[in-house]
Amino acid sequence: MELSTEIIPKILPELKPDIKEFTKEELTLWFQEKGIQAYRTTQIMRWIYLKRVDSFDEMTDISKNNRQLLSTNFSFSKPEIKQIESSADGSKKYLFGLHDGNSIETVLIPEKNHYTLCISTQVGCAMGCQFCMTAKSGLIRNLSQAEIINQVLGTLKDVTGEKRLTNIVLMGMGEPLANYENVIRAIRILTDNDSGLQFSTRRVTLSTCGLINRFDELGRDTKINLAISLNATDNQTRSRLMPINKRYPLEELIDACARYRMAPRNKITFEYILIQGINDSIEDAHRLTTLLKPVKAKINLIPFNEHPGSEFKRPEESVILKFQEVLHQKNYTAIIRRSKGRDISAACGQLSAKH
Ligand code: SF4
Repeated sequence: MELSTEIIPKILPELKPDIKEFTKEELTLWFQEKGIQAYRTTQIMRWIYLKRVDSFDEMTDISKNNRQLLSTNFSFSKPEIKQIESSADGSKKYLFGLHDGNSIETVLIPEKNHYTLCISTQVGCAMGCQFCMTAKSGLIRNLSQAEIINQVLGTLKDVTGEKRLTNIVLMGMGEPLANYENVIRAIRILTDNDSGLQFSTRRVTLSTCGLINRFDELGRDTKINLAISLNATDNQTRSRLMPINKRYPLEELIDACARYRMAPRNKITFEYILIQGINDSIEDAHRLTTLLKPVKAKINLIPFNEHPGSEFKRPEESVILKFQEVLHQKNYTAIIRRSKGRDISAACGQLSAKH
């Protein structure tokens, strides 16, 4: 049986496409073309994403004929964990191997009552942020829908005990909005409460360096949280740290954030990596409060994680606390995020340092 080229235009004809590359709607359409009832889609997706089987053969309530049909037409990718590094603080960094020999990193972070998983969306990144190790390799390629989801599926098998993995942040290697289509398709599976991975949209956060040309679509396509990697309060400093600022300067970024469509009680998180002598002055803190006035905002302060090859330094503790104090005085929620996993190069900005 031939696969419909309308449904899977991007797959090479000689390769069997991975079933995890498809949305529920696409699979339903394909089954309908084959004369199979639509409810089978839900059944099959539950085997993949809820029972987390590794093959069509394990789908015991699907008839043998239909299983045969599936395995003739689709492949079934398995997450390949090549290495796990454990930090003294309990976080774990997973190195996932990809079919073309590339690797990506995913970080599991223990919180008080749950785990948060930081996932990657690209191999490398084209955005060139000066404080980020991932930027050093440049962009190698986008991850597919399946490759994004497989990071979650692979890690879930390793999460045991009472604490559950409830939170996802798209904050690992890559700029999610530069891989928009695959990221949105993966988010749909992650937050599908019926037959997907059942994460709450309130517990999924996409972090961007500020590709504001995608904001309108993003606000329309999903209800997940938005985080902005801000890191400076004037255009000169931000353009030095983050080249994207030359395309979308601060005024345009803040304007796009103020217009961003989100639930009434939601706030946009602004991540601010504090770098000694670059963006950590009291004047910066005051400018930040003024800059964010038009936006419903909360702020995460992230003291810079020093790493070999970087010119930047972490500010003194007293400087970090004074910066936070200014934000508190202006009634901002400003939390100092002490990055976990620094000893295994899993902290913010350190991914792909070795691979
Ligand atoms: S901080 Fe994010 S957007 Fe910037 S280079 Fe690193 S991965 Fe890319």
